Amino acid sequence: EDFVKLVDVTKTYKMGEIEIHAVDGISFSVEKGEFVVIVGPSGAGKTTVLNILGGMDRATSGEIWIDGTDISKYTNRQLTGYRREDIGFVFQFYNLVPNLTALENVELALQICKDPLDAETVLKEVGLGDRLGNFPAQLSGGEQQRVSIARALAKNPKLLLCDEPTGALDYNTGKSILKLLQDMCRQRGMTVLVITHNSAIAPMADRVIKIKNGKVSDMSLNASPVSVE
Ligand code: ADP
Ligand code: ADP
Repeated sequence: EDFVKLVDVTKTYKMGEIEIHAVDGISFSVEKGEFVVIVGPSGAGKTTVLNILGGMDRATSGEIWIDGTDISKYTNRQLTGYRREDIGFVFQFYNLVPNLTALENVELALQICKDPLDAETVLKEVGLGDRLGNFPAQLSGGEQQRVSIARALAKNPKLLLCDEPTGALDYNTGKSILKLLQDMCRQRGMTVLVITHNSAIAPMADRVIKIKNGKVSDMSLNASPVSVE
């Protein structure tokens, strides 16, 4: 059974007289445990799709099935619970609280979460066992992104959604972050969707979804995804 299934999803923004079809009839499916990459030009609708999947935004029409439930039917309250408990988010910018340590940043996010993992254990898993007491300003960009990944993973989410997670990092640091995401996907059987402009990442994915002008322009399954070393 498909773990994620979008059926003819649209998102239209009305700007006065003008309608912007940010998402214009998108359908795709993802299996549980897949590492999926979403690519496409700027303005194609990638972020809008990710925000709809994460319950941060509502579609104008269409069905959004996650683990057997159509979240487009959720009330606002249900959608808030879904966003808090079922989804992990990683963004280009790390959004860490500057006056909290790495450990405190992760613990803070877990307070509104039903069934969290241990913050310290997850920080060790992402390679920050010796940085628990550091403040964000004392960490490199790659390390800050690791904290934000730990914060997302510690929620023990059904789905990890990443919007340009390497966008602010140099090539090699970006690669190590992608490797971490791939490892977490493989080790936990977690479903991971990553928006990226980084072409190095496509060979690592189980599935590559190309979005153009609010539509899926291409979708390919990768028979032998590469492990990053
Ligand atoms: P990306 O860097 O992923 O391609 P964008 O730079 O297109 O994303 O958009 C960044 C954020 O700004 C997104 O959250 C998007 O919803 C929002 N955004 C993009 N275009 C507009 C717009 N015309 N009006 C309001 N918000 C927008
Ligand atoms: P991408 O992530 O592929 O760069 P986005 O999903 O951010 O694309 O945006 C898709 C289209 O929708 C763009 O034309 C963008 O300007 C528009 N858009 C995104 N968010 C908004 C918004 N809040 N209001 C109006 N237009 C938006």
